[in-house]
Amino acid sequence: MSSNYDVIVIGAGPAGYVGAIRCAQLGLRVGVIDEFVRKDGEPSLGGTCLNVGCIPSKALLDSSDEYLKAEHELASHGIKVGSVELDVPQMIKRKDKVVQDLTGGIKQLFKANKIEWLQGHGKLLADRKVEFTPHKGKAQTLDAEHVILATGSTPIDIGAAPVDQEQVLNSDGALELTEVPKRMGVIGAGVIGLEMGSVWNRLGSKVVLLEAQDTFLAAVDSQIAKEARKQFEAQGMEIRLGCRVKDSRKGKTVSIHYEDTDGKQNLQVDKLVVSVGRRPHTDNLTHDDVDLLTDERGYVHVNDYCETNIPGVYAVGDVVRGPMLAHKGSEEGMMVAERIVGQPGEVNYETIPWVIYTDPEIAWVGKTEASLKSAGTPYRTGTFGFAATGRARAMDKPVGMVKIMAHAETDRILGVHIVGPQASELIGEAVLAMEYAASAEDLARTIHAHPTLSEAVHEAALAVDGRAIHKAN
Ligand code: FAD
Ligand code: NAD
Repeated sequence: MSSNYDVIVIGAGPAGYVGAIRCAQLGLRVGVIDEFVRKDGEPSLGGTCLNVGCIPSKALLDSSDEYLKAEHELASHGIKVGSVELDVPQMIKRKDKVVQDLTGGIKQLFKANKIEWLQGHGKLLADRKVEFTPHKGKAQTLDAEHVILATGSTPIDIGAAPVDQEQVLNSDGALELTEVPKRMGVIGAGVIGLEMGSVWNRLGSKVVLLEAQDTFLAAVDSQIAKEARKQFEAQGMEIRLGCRVKDSRKGKTVSIHYEDTDGKQNLQVDKLVVSVGRRPHTDNLTHDDVDLLTDERGYVHVNDYCETNIPGVYAVGDVVRGPMLAHKGSEEGMMVAERIVGQPGEVNYETIPWVIYTDPEIAWVGKTEASLKSAGTPYRTGTFGFAATGRARAMDKPVGMVKIMAHAETDRILGVHIVGPQASELIGEAVLAMEYAASAEDLARTIHAHPTLSEAVHEAALAVDGRAIHKAN
């Protein structure tokens, strides 16, 4: 192990490891410190995203979707599968294998790029020195020209429902259940609540989500959120809004006391998932004599280029402002690497796509209708339902819509919102269009293959000008 680096990255999640690889590609000598240890005691690269976030959650969403298909959907296609049996431990094993394959892949990429993986805790000292404490062994001081902080985030805890990962779980625990709880409560009907709720609802749990806000998915365009809620409730998930959880008591079951507009309420469940947001992870990150600026919510303060208040020290990913999304962090990691060598890297924060991997999927980029209204921006809207596309009908997924908003005078696309099948893939086209400052007319004049789900995007663009073909505008 060297003690002298061009760049030391603290944190090997999608922000840190991607930034590290880009630094190495640009000829810099890189060391990456990461303290993550998986459940079998092995250190693992990839951070929250690969180990306990994006990847394992999608693995379980895909498995539970297959189960649902076998159980309920294949028969209508003329496929009889007989009795369907659920093997949850195998589902978890498959999820673990997906995670191990991908995290192992990063290890290979580190080797190929000659990046040193330092397994243990990193702490920023003064003068761009970093204290590295290996999992086993003594702390040592490393020197670097540049330091990138990429320490990610951790779940927010609430006093009313302390997590024990037995009966009261956070997302880590919700990814490890080996049997289907009869009843599952979820505090927080946000992204994690809906994704984890969907998994266990599909596998047979009775899922009830308790959300503090009066609005369902407040950050999502309200027309899209309304359609999504209708579908989730049709699947059996119960969404209760305006809930103030007061406390939870554990016995044979978990008893949750909460209040809503009707007064005091009680909910009995077998497992309770707490998914009320995540906070930036800066625990024991800086030495006392390092004056790293953080904001009032604990995020490391950075400018548009992810530079902190300390020259040569950068911060990227969940630990800084902006959406807590893997691809946002990765872009920041690449930007910082390029700027370190004097290249003009930047991130377009206006075109970061969001996806919620439920069924139907929800995906969006750009402004919501409410934000355009409150900014007084003149706009035109085009919507198109998947029910009118041949492909969605053939797939038996005729649910949801595409909604495009464009500036009323310039026709520039300002926001695209999708609820429906494969919204996660369809949103890519919208991101590209916005990145190139396309107009709705540009999308409308782009040839889309038939029959595809992307025809709904095309038709919504035509609808902005009131000329969708398969819709009475
Ligand atoms: P992290 O991935 O959190 O990585 C930080 C790493 O730094 C960790 O390995 C941590 O152990 C390490 N570390 C922290 N402090 C230190 C220290 N002092 N010394 C050494 N190491 C340290 N995002 C999406 O875009 N799409 C999704 O589908 C998606 N699904 C998600 C599902 C779940 C259940 C969860 C919890 C999150 C999901 N996210 C998703 C969010 C995504 O995981 C995060 O936005 C992303 O992981 C942030 O990347 P990061 O590199 O900033 O931090
Ligand atoms: P979230 O912010 O998406 O949702 C938290 C929800 O909990 C909100 O609706 C909030 O109003 C509610 N809430 C807060 N306090 C509450 C309380 N005391 N009682 C009841 N409800 C309460 O956060 P999350 O679902 O925990 O996920 C954290 C972050 O991880 C997300 O914001 C996202 O950035 C990331 N993530 C992304 C994906 C994805 O991209 N598909 C998936 C999972 C997580």
